[in-house]
Amino acid sequence: MVELIDTHAHLDSSDYNEDRAAVIARTFAERIGVITVGVDLESSEAALNLAKHHRFIWAGVGIHPHEAKTFDSQVANALRELATDPKVIAIGEIGLDYYRDLSPRLTQRDVLTEQIELANEIDLPVIIHNRESTKDMLAILRKHRPKRGVIHSFLGDIDLAREFMAFGLHLGIGGPLTFKKNDVLRDAVARIPFERILLETDCPYLTPVPYRGKRNEPAYIRYIAEEIARLKEISVQRVIATTTENARRLFDI
Ligand SMILES: [Zn+2]
Repeated sequence: MVELIDTHAHLDSSDYNEDRAAVIARTFAERIGVITVGVDLESSEAALNLAKHHRFIWAGVGIHPHEAKTFDSQVANALRELATDPKVIAIGEIGLDYYRDLSPRLTQRDVLTEQIELANEIDLPVIIHNRESTKDMLAILRKHRPKRGVIHSFLGDIDLAREFMAFGLHLGIGGPLTFKKNDVLRDAVARIPFERILLETDCPYLTPVPYRGKRNEPAYIRYIAEEIARLKEISVQRVIATTTENARRLFDI
């Protein structure tokens, strides 16, 4: 059994090519389960492949906004086909990213919309990336409301948290919660209702303190749980139990 779930990881990343088996072994030794997400068709297939080989790894399949320019009807059909596998438990990582702008914004919006529609049609939750694109994100969510899902790596204030929660969405909380400058996020997390919080690492990125600057991995999810416990003034055990239950319910795992 797993005790904790890292709801957002990129275990197929080439950063793990040298020692992926060891990283996964450490993860399971700590009784952590992992949702590993794809960012394009190839990594979605890789994510599913990992999930098929490990009982406590599940996959999200989707086209990230950076890769939105690669989306076409063939990719859409391939995603739909992948999503029929029982180890695929979400459509993601999908979203908008106006910070890096690696695909045209109009394309990003169309590709996000199509994938929300796909998720709703096949009844899977969505895993959403949103970076410097909040206004357009809220407009899309209003028009194409996902049945359920999570705003991954939520970084906003309590007002924005409430706007996303009004759509029924969960908020994924990760390493940035431990970064010194993020007082606004800490204030939000202290006030977000517990049943809407999911733990995530976004590994290999966004490594929490005390490992900031090094490669991230699912085993570091405990540092996020500890910080939430401190902010909410409750036990780490309760943070773990509640967020794991949230993840199990949302993703039906
Ligand atoms: Zn990610």
